[in-house]
Amino acid sequence: MPPGPVRRPLAEAPFRPAVMFCLKCLRTSVKNYVAGSGVQFEPNCCFDAVSSVKCRQCAARKSNCIPTATGMLGNASDLAEILRWAAYFWDTEQEGIWDPAFRVPVGNFTAALAAKFADAEKAHRVEHHVSAATKKAMVKHAAAYRGFVVERRTLAARTNEDFEYLRLLPGDAGYLLWQLAISTFLDDIIQEVTRLYADGQGNEERFVQELRDSFPVAVVRGL
Ligand SMILES: [Zn+2]
Ligand SMILES: [Zn+2]
Repeated sequence: MPPGPVRRPLAEAPFRPAVMFCLKCLRTSVKNYVAGSGVQFEPNCCFDAVSSVKCRQCAARKSNCIPTATGMLGNASDLAEILRWAAYFWDTEQEGIWDPAFRVPVGNFTAALAAKFADAEKAHRVEHHVSAATKKAMVKHAAAYRGFVVERRTLAARTNEDFEYLRLLPGDAGYLLWQLAISTFLDDIIQEVTRLYADGQGNEERFVQELRDSFPVAVVRGL
């Protein structure tokens, strides 16, 4: 009898990571996002097996997951926070405040932000040779990268920052790209809100202020 497909015993409650998503799924979600659809963007990564380190998509493709490099987990956490923040626009209870018409531009902006995150992560990966071509090179660079992570954690702990979830610093590959992606994302949404709510009396300012006040991630200006 020919061997059948390998069955993965499935977990009762699949885990959908908000921060620890697989980069391959994030890129697939960006690629499949239909611009103008108004659909809420999500990484769509799902760990559904009882015992497997691979997510559903990677298991189906017989490939390995690419989790966010350790040195950028804080940036992944920031992306997750921003996605949670953007989810307000899809919350039916918020429809009295935020016009559902915002879902189209915000959906587009969020997918674009996720794409920039993946690009910044790739830049970081290249800078540190995290995905080297050969196994020997990978082993060599992995040790150096671990050293880098330890140094960063020490630095973060000393400056009272979150040392578990590291973030890019000025000068790191991908830093500028990611910071600009965040500020552009917020500016684009503010522009849409201003356009849609402008009433000639400046009342839209209240909405803009609420967006600025509630935005969960520090926006770096003047870079
Ligand atoms: Zn995945
Ligand atoms: Zn995966």
